[in-house]
Amino acid sequence: MQNPFQNAMEQLDKVVKVRNFSDELIKKLRQPDRDIRISIPVKMDNGSVKIFEGYRVEYNNTLGPYKGGIRYHKDTEINEVKALAFWMTLKCAVAGIPMGGGKGGITVDPKELSKTELEKLSRGWVRRLSDILGPKKDVPAPDVNTTPEIMAWMADEYEKITGDRTRATFTGKPTDKGGSAGRGPATGLGGFYVFDSLRKQIGLPDKCKVVIQGFGNVGVNAAQIFSENGHAVIAISDSKGGVYNENGLDIEKLAEHKKRNGSLSGFEGSKDISNEELLETGCDLLIPAAFENVINDANAGKIKAKAIMELANGPLTPEADEILFKKGIPVVPDILANSGGVTVSYFEWDQNLKNEHWSEKEVFDKLLPMMNDAAQKIFKKAKEYSTDLRRGAFIVALERIQAKM
Ligand code: NAD
Repeated sequence: MQNPFQNAMEQLDKVVKVRNFSDELIKKLRQPDRDIRISIPVKMDNGSVKIFEGYRVEYNNTLGPYKGGIRYHKDTEINEVKALAFWMTLKCAVAGIPMGGGKGGITVDPKELSKTELEKLSRGWVRRLSDILGPKKDVPAPDVNTTPEIMAWMADEYEKITGDRTRATFTGKPTDKGGSAGRGPATGLGGFYVFDSLRKQIGLPDKCKVVIQGFGNVGVNAAQIFSENGHAVIAISDSKGGVYNENGLDIEKLAEHKKRNGSLSGFEGSKDISNEELLETGCDLLIPAAFENVINDANAGKIKAKAIMELANGPLTPEADEILFKKGIPVVPDILANSGGVTVSYFEWDQNLKNEHWSEKEVFDKLLPMMNDAAQKIFKKAKEYSTDLRRGAFIVALERIQAKM
């Protein structure tokens, strides 16, 4: 796999060619404030002790406390975490929230652990890092394979160690344990608000045919929200493959089918397709919502979508960006499109610190104008510099960070 941190730095290089920023800012953004690697011993159910490798990267806190999810994945490694932490720094700036950027992870396939082992591992991550975490210092959240339950274990462990009872150190908690209403669908919903705001400007019709890669938190919620709003989700996939129906899939029934069968394959009225075929399916909007580097120099030329919206972090390589730019396919970048998640995480942190609980309606009513505003600012900025939306988003973010520095 291409090194995601190198990709992130290439994106930064491209922006500096379009607009000048101070050397101090660019130098600072080329490396994290600190990157921490830890080992976490876990006593497994069979009595043996296994050592896991974990990470926390605190990238930049110019705008506020470090903020960013924790990823559990067998391929997670330091360069991926650094890239994700860099993007978080820009994402918080784009969203206009008073947070900096960070990210964490553990190299583990959580499906291979029992629930007890997973809980011990999650609590172990917090024990190693509790000194650097805190509501005003560093506020982790969920990411790939980390659930509200895991966040609740982590928040509990942190409270035990520090005595801090604000619950504001971890976001993405279950709602009965200090979580915010609306955090579950926030990333998918924020993406929909961004799409809705930019739809006409990027030349998409009133009713779109949508293809989504990823059937996790982000993919499923996005699929449901797009369907509810009259768009047809014609193909969707998980890591094992996908399904296609040119008239649109019933997402609720598909989710039940996956629960029963463990895979999307064989869903009534649909055709099984591979992830490669899915990405190359003709549609109005393609939404990668799974992993990094899935659209690259090998397949970017074959993309038939009219536009792409990145709900995953880093799904397009810099080479793919260039190919799609030349083909005239607009790409709504991750740091804008998926910033609804961190925005509602920020709402959760704010509610915890003020000891408040907002209704789902209040949360969504606050989210909508923020996403709309971010989308329009970026569209204008891209026009001003005659460039693509990714560079437009980077410019908006870097201007905010530079002004604060
Ligand atoms: P998740 O663990 O809930 O789901 C990931 C999905 O991707 C699963 O359906 C999995 O089967 C699928 N997948 C894995 N490998 C794949 C492959 N090679 N091809 C196709 N599908 C594959 O994770 P999530 O929280 O939905 O996150 C997905 C992406 O969105 C990640 O890039 C994450 O960083 C980003 N993101 C998540 C949030 C959030 O709030 N959860 C916020 C912002 C960005």
